[in-house]
Amino acid sequence: MSSTADAVPLVRLTGISKHFGEGQTRVDALRDVSIEVYPREVVALLGPSGSGKTTLLNVIGCILDPSAGAMELDSEQVLENGHWLRSNLRQLRLDKIGFIFQSHNLIPFLDATDNVALVLQLAGKDAGTARNRAVELLDYLEVGNRKGSMPAKLSGGEAQRVAIARALANNPRIILADEPTAALDSRRAGIVMDLLRKLAVEQDAAIIAVTHDEKIFDRFDRIYHLRDGRLDSETKNSKAA
Ligand code: ADP
Ligand code: MG
Repeated sequence: MSSTADAVPLVRLTGISKHFGEGQTRVDALRDVSIEVYPREVVALLGPSGSGKTTLLNVIGCILDPSAGAMELDSEQVLENGHWLRSNLRQLRLDKIGFIFQSHNLIPFLDATDNVALVLQLAGKDAGTARNRAVELLDYLEVGNRKGSMPAKLSGGEAQRVAIARALANNPRIILADEPTAALDSRRAGIVMDLLRKLAVEQDAAIIAVTHDEKIFDRFDRIYHLRDGRLDSETKNSKAA
């Protein structure tokens, strides 16, 4: 359930624009996009190929510099007039954001536990603490039984859940996912969506997912439609959850 009346948005974008190139080769990937996403919301970005979905996700994730606009993440103003207000964007990402990609991007020569533990070690945890927390997260995502497995031995759904565990390692409240269920059949896609919902509710998080996947449209609280870099319309889904 979304409750927008009493909450402060976790993500607030105001007038975000992004262009690539200049002159004849200029592409306006985002034009004056403003959105708000609240704690416990599961929101989709939908639109044709090239409409700016990935660009928008990457701007929210602070991995792409926008050309104009303002952004607030978890009550912190992070961007103003198209300029970052923090010099250390890597730390900002570590503090606030978890990424889930379409293909799980697990490191092939590390087992499930170490794939998750690595993120924690990069954030400064010692190896033992990192592994314990990694196993906890794998249990939470119901893949604890695969903690010693190498990525190649995992099914698509299991690998995606390990990837979600890794995205959660630093307790981010903003979770960004680019086509998280595209590689999964409907049953496994449903399991992943259930887990994202559980995260939103239990961790008071906001989930923003790019998707084309019609079989999961009814799992989102809201769908933002993008067209040619513009926010075209917004669909609310009263039946979600
Ligand atoms: P979507 O994810 O909706 O398919 P994208 O956000 O990837 O769309 O792309 C939006 C537009 O921006 C497209 O026209 C794309 O070609 C262009 N674009 C994206 N990334 C770059 C880049 N790094 N350099 C130049 N153009 C880009
Ligand atoms: Mg894309």
